[in-house]
Amino acid sequence: MEINPKTKICGLVGHPLEHTASPAIHNAAFRALGLNAVYLVFDIEPTMFEDAIKGLKALKVCGFNVTIPYKERIIPLLTHLDQSAARVGAVNTVKLDGVSLIGYNTDVAGFLAPLLELNLKLNEITALILGAGGAAKACVRALLDAGCRELIVLNRSLERALNLYKQHGNKLKVAPLNEESLKEVLSRATLVVNTTPVGMYPNVDESIIPRALLRSDLIVYDLVYRPPQTKLLKEAKEVGATTIPGYKMLLEQAAESFRIWTGLEPPKEAMLKALKMELGVEVVG
Ligand code: NAP
Repeated sequence: MEINPKTKICGLVGHPLEHTASPAIHNAAFRALGLNAVYLVFDIEPTMFEDAIKGLKALKVCGFNVTIPYKERIIPLLTHLDQSAARVGAVNTVKLDGVSLIGYNTDVAGFLAPLLELNLKLNEITALILGAGGAAKACVRALLDAGCRELIVLNRSLERALNLYKQHGNKLKVAPLNEESLKEVLSRATLVVNTTPVGMYPNVDESIIPRALLRSDLIVYDLVYRPPQTKLLKEAKEVGATTIPGYKMLLEQAAESFRIWTGLEPPKEAMLKALKMELGVEVVG
């Protein structure tokens, strides 16, 4: 790819950013469509965050993704918040429109896309979300929007789960995550989503759900994507459960960001191929 005066800049803002797969996905998309654009990583120290965003605006970048720990901190710096982000209270995609910064959330659509492929009747199921951090916020929004019949969040610290409860009122139930609550809720759940980092590289021998609690009629969705086949997904598969790996959400949220920045249909096949190569293994669904 030739870099020249007309090259458009997109990127990722976060901290720390050592293991991100986003550059591989987006640069593959630009290449596939022959666009003169590049996706860079901006690892920004917390004390420099506001200055860095002003800088990106002054440099007239095309747009950028936002990740931990800035998905909420970016909001007061924006000119306009799209509905997709206002409904979650978190931004993962920013588009520069002239001098305006517009914030979007593509995590919600990205999370939902692989579930919709299963043709699930979400209004008939109980869903369990493990964790109550940034990713859980998007999952809760997505499942409530999709009309999920019963939604329960279990989290290590009750305080963070209660924040989600305050945001959504009695549309969801929250409780502390422990052996007993996990067993009880899982016994009546159809879908379970791991939004905690448990099982993430380098702690690949860990799983948030004991194998004995997994069943063949469960749908197990693990947001962790490094490794793509976590211990949780491997054991779920072994008992015959349906599994959704986290890389699918990563791909879908990236595709939506690409659409927002370019107005073009994202070349998903090229993006998926690059993501698989980046994750370094034969990725199986
Ligand atoms: P976060 O805001 O830091 O939240 C982490 C959550 O996990 C918190 O609720 C935390 O509980 C809980 N947790 C952390 N360690 C735990 C442990 N050992 N046992 C039980 N609970 C634990 O992080 P995040 O942004 O939500 O990201 C979480 C994971 O999702 C990461 O692995 C990230 O890579 C992944 N993710 C994937 C995608 C994708 O596209 N696939 C998108 C976003 C995030 P406390 O409140 O008690 O601390």
